[in-house]
Amino acid sequence: MALSEFNLIDRYFKQAQLTNAQTRLGIGDDCAIYAVPEGFELALTMDTMVEGVHFLPGCAAEALGHKLLAVNLSDLASMGAEPSAVLLALTLPAVDEAWLADFAQGLFGLAQRYQVDLIGGDTTRGPLTLTLQAIGLLPCGRNLRRSAAQVGDVICVTGTLGDAGLGLKIAQGDFASPYAETALAQFYRPEPQIAAGLVLRDLAHAGIDISDGLVADLWHITENSAVAAEINYEALPLSRAVKHYIATTGDWSLPLVAGDDYQLCFTLSPEKLVDLDFAYTAIGKITSGTGVAVYKHGVIQQLNRRGYEHFSA
Ligand code: ADP
Ligand code: MG
Repeated sequence: MALSEFNLIDRYFKQAQLTNAQTRLGIGDDCAIYAVPEGFELALTMDTMVEGVHFLPGCAAEALGHKLLAVNLSDLASMGAEPSAVLLALTLPAVDEAWLADFAQGLFGLAQRYQVDLIGGDTTRGPLTLTLQAIGLLPCGRNLRRSAAQVGDVICVTGTLGDAGLGLKIAQGDFASPYAETALAQFYRPEPQIAAGLVLRDLAHAGIDISDGLVADLWHITENSAVAAEINYEALPLSRAVKHYIATTGDWSLPLVAGDDYQLCFTLSPEKLVDLDFAYTAIGKITSGTGVAVYKHGVIQQLNRRGYEHFSA
């Protein structure tokens, strides 16, 4: 490599200033040292993005840096954890300094907003593969799981649904939209719902982040909680971009099946709704039984776990 691994890490990934109170020792030794405060426990998560599998070849490095961190912070948000530090494993085909600078800019741009430190990692040569492990804090015993939804709960989501899926279609050249910019922004630069997660930790019964699509992820809540879910299609929060896409193509399933939005889906007692101090939309309710059903114009459609209608092609 043109630049030694050590110089590469120093130049692009070693922070001049560590910002998180839990960091005792950052990049530079054999291990980082992280202080767990009294009365807290750790939430740990990891996600890998492989070129050609999880992102399109040639994708802008700045967007990759942002998204790699965002998808991990979204996992912390869905548990109600407060993000504090990350470790980064980079596999690179070659040392491309412009690429590294852009990647680091995307990563640190988001990290600094949440006082998240990059405290270590690993660097190897090979096909472009990006792995990030995130560490968050939870007060002991307080968290938001997939397994605690209760019959009678309201099902809610943050933000709007289907925008990232539409962005992917636009990026692949499968659809042209006058609203391309907002959909592409949602696809390339998802925003982890950290603040909502922290509020929900003490108010909601169950929560998950929408990475695979509303129905697929809500299905995990129903399975883990041994309940069923009913969604009211007309209540789904849709952007102008997604409404325009559905009106043009007739593909109304997009907001049910498209992934990558990284909004939160959560369930809680109806009387707790007044305490939610962030924007949300109620989209349905938890019932007894199994599976996820959607009411569309009053007609019930039983869906499979991917969100498609049973028996449809
Ligand atoms: P070792 O050989 O002991 O595993 P390395 O030479 O791989 O150490 O790494 C040196 C330091 O740089 C360590 O603190 C390690 O955590 C950090 N590091 C290596 N790669 C990365 C990376 N991609 N991002 C952040 N820190 C990294
Ligand atoms: Mg070592």
